[in-house]
Amino acid sequence: MAASEEHDSPTEAPQPQVEEEETKTFKDLGVTDVLCEACDQLGWTKPTKIQIEAIPLALQGRDIIGLAETGSGKTGAFALPILNALLETPQRLFALVLTPTRELAFQISEQFEALGSSIGVQSATPGRLIDHLENTKGFNLRALKYLVMDEADRILNMDFETEVDKILKVIPRDRKTFLFSATMTKKVQKLQRAALKNPVKCAVSSKYQTVEKLQQYYLFIPSKFKDTYLVYILNELAGNSFMVFCSTCNNTQRTALLLRNLGFTAIPLHGQMSQTKRLGSLNKFKAKARSILLATDVASRGLDIPHVDVVVNFDIPTHSKDYIHRVGRTARAGRSGKSITFVTQYDVELFQRIEHLIGKKLPVFPTQDEEVMMLTERVAEAQRFARMELREHGEKKKRSREDAGDNDDTEGAIGVRNKVAGGKMKKRKGR
Ligand code: AMP
Repeated sequence: MAASEEHDSPTEAPQPQVEEEETKTFKDLGVTDVLCEACDQLGWTKPTKIQIEAIPLALQGRDIIGLAETGSGKTGAFALPILNALLETPQRLFALVLTPTRELAFQISEQFEALGSSIGVQSATPGRLIDHLENTKGFNLRALKYLVMDEADRILNMDFETEVDKILKVIPRDRKTFLFSATMTKKVQKLQRAALKNPVKCAVSSKYQTVEKLQQYYLFIPSKFKDTYLVYILNELAGNSFMVFCSTCNNTQRTALLLRNLGFTAIPLHGQMSQTKRLGSLNKFKAKARSILLATDVASRGLDIPHVDVVVNFDIPTHSKDYIHRVGRTARAGRSGKSITFVTQYDVELFQRIEHLIGKKLPVFPTQDEEVMMLTERVAEAQRFARMELREHGEKKKRSREDAGDNDDTEGAIGVRNKVAGGKMKKRKGR
């Protein structure tokens, strides 16, 4: 990546006093009336911390490094100044927002459109920008005024460095740049030096803290009983929305099939699914048409899913930082939430690392072991059917040389589910 000659270390944004913060309005931050009304219509009665810090500086024309996570209101923190400036000098291809995943791009585009609806703002999420720059005739970004890199740490961790480098070469140097990242890694610092001019740093969340309203538990269980305990927990906490994290696409798929065989409304989300199906899963879960989202770490960061009540770490995260991101899917925006981490005989060291990172010892999630054991037979039956379904899918895929992306059709597992006697769990409460 070409180093810029201007690479001053960022200045820190002045910290507002607490009382000041509580009374600030969007108008006080310098946001123009029509956008203040848009915020009002979205129910944003007052700006969040990151918005209070970043918006005035962005409106002054400064480059910004925002250390803030999804859920903090960071999209508004960069979208409002961009829309404010766009209103002053309307033009096409005004701002470019780079994100690590397409889901996040959609989510951001929705916020831009919601905030800009009364001024006719259009946004597009074209997928891999590089493809367009290289293959779409007449497409260029030479007039671009704003560049946003959201979840920059993750963009770089996903080895998009070369792509980012190429993009930086084809956009004007005379532009404003906002870089948002949950963590400040060496790669992010390098990118910051190459892409930002005299930036100011706005940080709102203290590092690696999980919110107070999140009740975190662990459950120590032999690995062979993980499925049974999962079913027990889903029954015990029935009526809630769950996100269950698995470590591989295959296990996500298998667990989704298993749960569907037992009559739960579970749906998978993982990287081997086609984009359309990934978005479909997410939307069904968001719309509460499904109560359990089974996911790999593709969903652990960035996505704003407001109503998750319980996060289950079915497979413990191998990188402790992913723990923070995963449990951060619940207890958002002042709500309370629970997380339960399964710890097997193989996971003790990883679990200790997590406790060390968050700086606390977690309590055990209380269970009635005899009740759990009563579920084993039915779970074993569902496991057999799930394995069969996975195998059938694999063979079908081989036969038809289907794209790996279509191997996600747990919704089609109904035939199998009907074979499980009764279809539903006897012990189900409140469903
Ligand atoms: P973000 O951190 O940008 O992903 O935003 C998380 C959620 O907070 C989104 O659902 C936003 O609509 C919401 N949000 C952003 N700013 C505000 C605000 N000032 N007041 C209330 N909600 C907000």
